[in-house]
Amino acid sequence: MPATVLDGNLFASQIKAEVAAEVQQLAASGLRPGLAAILVGHNPASQTYVRSKVRACEQLGIYSEMVTPPETSTTAEIVALIEQLNARDEIDGILVQLPLPAHIDAKRVLLAVSPQKDVDGFHPANVGNLCTQRPGLVPCTPAGCMEILRRANIAIEGQEAVVVGRSDIVGKPMAMLLTNANATVTICHSKTKDLPSVCRRGDILVAAIGRPGFITTEFIKPGATILDVGINYITNSVLFERYFKGDEKREKQFAEKKYTIIGDCDPRVARIAGACTPVPGGVGKLTIAMLMSNTVKAAKLRRGAKQPQTEPAVQG
Ligand code: NDP
Repeated sequence: MPATVLDGNLFASQIKAEVAAEVQQLAASGLRPGLAAILVGHNPASQTYVRSKVRACEQLGIYSEMVTPPETSTTAEIVALIEQLNARDEIDGILVQLPLPAHIDAKRVLLAVSPQKDVDGFHPANVGNLCTQRPGLVPCTPAGCMEILRRANIAIEGQEAVVVGRSDIVGKPMAMLLTNANATVTICHSKTKDLPSVCRRGDILVAAIGRPGFITTEFIKPGATILDVGINYITNSVLFERYFKGDEKREKQFAEKKYTIIGDCDPRVARIAGACTPVPGGVGKLTIAMLMSNTVKAAKLRRGAKQPQTEPAVQG
């Protein structure tokens, strides 16, 4: 039986609708959450991402502004800009679009964001909050993965979860969220020995590696839930044929656009898995929804608005 498709579009639209309703509720008490997005320079992919984030704010009634300092800005100038945003009461969330130009010290910049406004959840204070299960802001992509599991009613407690990838923005917080939700978690990375057999332990397998189609059927426990975080572009026709030959929709798209997007999993893992996220249309769709949710959460935490009984997003 083919795996259940975990539809990121569906879950993202549910979360956005819940966030929009909360924004309306807050408006009744005179509070409008606000997000500032800092985009340094002219990286076209970053411009697209930031525009989508600003558009999502507009759709949900969140105030937003895009701050675009020039590529030549120094670390000190970006830090000063962040300090100004930290001091503005109407700004609840500050996001710094990565990557920053190479001459800017990204760690210093991220440390300058007030932990209360750190809607990406990258500040060490929020990393500590997550590790010690205190209220705080959680990185959007792993938070989105938890929402997929929760909304698809996939059991976490007592399950074996394997996370492949240990980055600060995906792998590590993902592993911590699963641990907090009472899974038994194994974190894998490039030095892990016999990766396929470790992965086959996973009732839940999270792939966050950045390598197209790397996780093949031999890594999968039959019936497992697969969350494929990877976003990789394929332009090579040999690779394209390996994964997508016979998929008419993809073939048409590849012929037109000369690329397609693949995750870190070989799409054929769906033959063995119980449920999996597609790429595109899976985990990636949740990331912006969780950013919106974090902005509202930051507004409520900082401005002291009462948390509702049912949170739109769980921390695990
Ligand atoms: P990083 O490059 O920061 O981390 C990759 C991790 O994968 C590292 O821990 C690395 O191990 C591990 N890894 C690399 N090769 C192997 C291997 N052969 N075997 C086992 N582990 C390996 O990537 P990110 O975490 O930032 O992103 C991962 C993927 O997720 C990318 O495709 C990215 O585009 C995507 N992404 C998607 C998002 C979304 O919204 N859907 C958001 C963020 C990222 P080591 O530490 O040993 O080097």
